[in-house]
Amino acid sequence: MNKPLVAVLSGAGISTDSGIPDYRGPNGLWRRDPGAEKLVTYEYYMGDPEIRRRSWQMRRKNRTLKAEPNAAHLAVAELEQSGVPVRVITQNVDGLHQLAGMPARKVLELHGSARSFVCTKCHARGPMEDALARVEAGEDDPPCLECGGILKSATVMFGERLDPVVLGEAVAITKACQVFIAVGSSLQVQPAAGLAGVAADHGARLVIVNAEPTPYDEIADEIVREPIGTALPELLRGLRESSR
Ligand SMILES: [Zn+2]
Repeated sequence: MNKPLVAVLSGAGISTDSGIPDYRGPNGLWRRDPGAEKLVTYEYYMGDPEIRRRSWQMRRKNRTLKAEPNAAHLAVAELEQSGVPVRVITQNVDGLHQLAGMPARKVLELHGSARSFVCTKCHARGPMEDALARVEAGEDDPPCLECGGILKSATVMFGERLDPVVLGEAVAITKACQVFIAVGSSLQVQPAAGLAGVAADHGARLVIVNAEPTPYDEIADEIVREPIGTALPELLRGLRESSR
């Protein structure tokens, strides 16, 4: 018997146990603080050096880079290591799925990664730690070392488009999978939200693991409201055993 392809769509809720708050969701920190939202809005960032200086200070203080994966991230990686084909589609920028052991090529980061910087002009990339070291050393808005362009975090800012290649792969996996597990996502931010509907339309078993109701609960095959840190490992253990 062929093992089912499992797609895991993860949102902010999977990383709260790792100490990372929800920045981007409908009730996230950015949306509640217009001043903070400007720091992650492309137009303001590119147009105002003061916004960039404040953004670099914010990144310097951000704890995302120091966070560790939790039991839920580890359970997803263990499922993959057990031989079940797993792909992760994540709304998170924290890189914790990869740190937990998921191969990077099997993780699609819809909103990019806070662990890298990118040049807005020549698209050179590098580890965020390198850019932050320059900020620590006194460059309050470090320019690209290749071309002098403006650097930013390799995350998708408000006002920026998602990477069409990443999005295309996410849709393809969603259509191909037999099991689609949405975990820790309110399923209110596109395009992630729509993927749940696409999965169901293409015959996948739709499982939603989230503390709060979502707009897709009605079409879900299974809804889990228990805390993600215990519920997801249990759910994935069941999947692993049934696909033996
Ligand atoms: Zn450059």
